[in-house]
Amino acid sequence: MARILTGLILGLALAAPAAAEPNASALFGAKARPSAQQPAAIGSYARGCAAGLVELPETGPTWQAMRLSRNRNWGHPETIAFIRRFSAEATRYGWPGLYIGDISQPRGGPMTSGHSSHQIGLDIDIWMLPPRRLNLSRAEREKISSISVRSQDQRRVNGNYTRAHAAILRAAAMDPAVDRIFVTPPVKIELCKTATRADTPWLQKIRPLYGHDTHFHVRLKCPAGDRHCETQRPTVADLSRGGNGCDETLTWWVTEYLDPPKARPGTKPPPAPKERHPREFTMADLPAQCRSVLAAD
Ligand SMILES: [Zn+2]
Repeated sequence: MARILTGLILGLALAAPAAAEPNASALFGAKARPSAQQPAAIGSYARGCAAGLVELPETGPTWQAMRLSRNRNWGHPETIAFIRRFSAEATRYGWPGLYIGDISQPRGGPMTSGHSSHQIGLDIDIWMLPPRRLNLSRAEREKISSISVRSQDQRRVNGNYTRAHAAILRAAAMDPAVDRIFVTPPVKIELCKTATRADTPWLQKIRPLYGHDTHFHVRLKCPAGDRHCETQRPTVADLSRGGNGCDETLTWWVTEYLDPPKARPGTKPPPAPKERHPREFTMADLPAQCRSVLAAD
């Protein structure tokens, strides 16, 4: 009997070798501390990891990190420097600072829940909720929620969206370290209403995307010298064909995206190719350097 069982187990293991490969999000999610290595963003925003990340202090003069229990307030040193200067900048527009959501896990990498990106210490979620105060307790930071700046029908901004939001988004996009910023499409539509030609360089960095109504997502460029960091293509200039992105690709989000044209009877769209979520990645899916990030002290 034992022999039969062993044979069965062996047979199963041989039949399904992929299942034996450990899941990368479980491995990275289990690391409570960063790697004692030179800071480096490795791979791409949605397929990578990060060495030598540093912690965003949970409270600073112009910010608080939210949802500390998630342990995702870790970033590349350049990310932490950006949050320090940008949150101070936000005070010029009447906010006491910023509530900072997820950055990365201590060693980056894919996560067991939530984001597909945020893997290399260069993505930051920032709450749309203007901070009321910057001395929230840990418990309060687990409990309070951000606000949505989008109407129920998803076609316009709502009364929560203010001039300060617009000024703060513009300030972020003008920071030279910023590659692009994801916002709910109505926010970009609103920014486009007053856009002039002079706004093109920063406005093209503001990218419409589903979700992103309770936070905006700042993505930083690969830091100089991080040779394993993959610059995102297409660039925002390519995506907007040198313009500001206030065009039909933007209106698509409040027309076709919300009201897809009905398929003609008898026609069937081809099935979308099945893409694996980063949650299913194994170490083999990540850059080779990620093994040493995981194994480092
Ligand atoms: Zn995000």
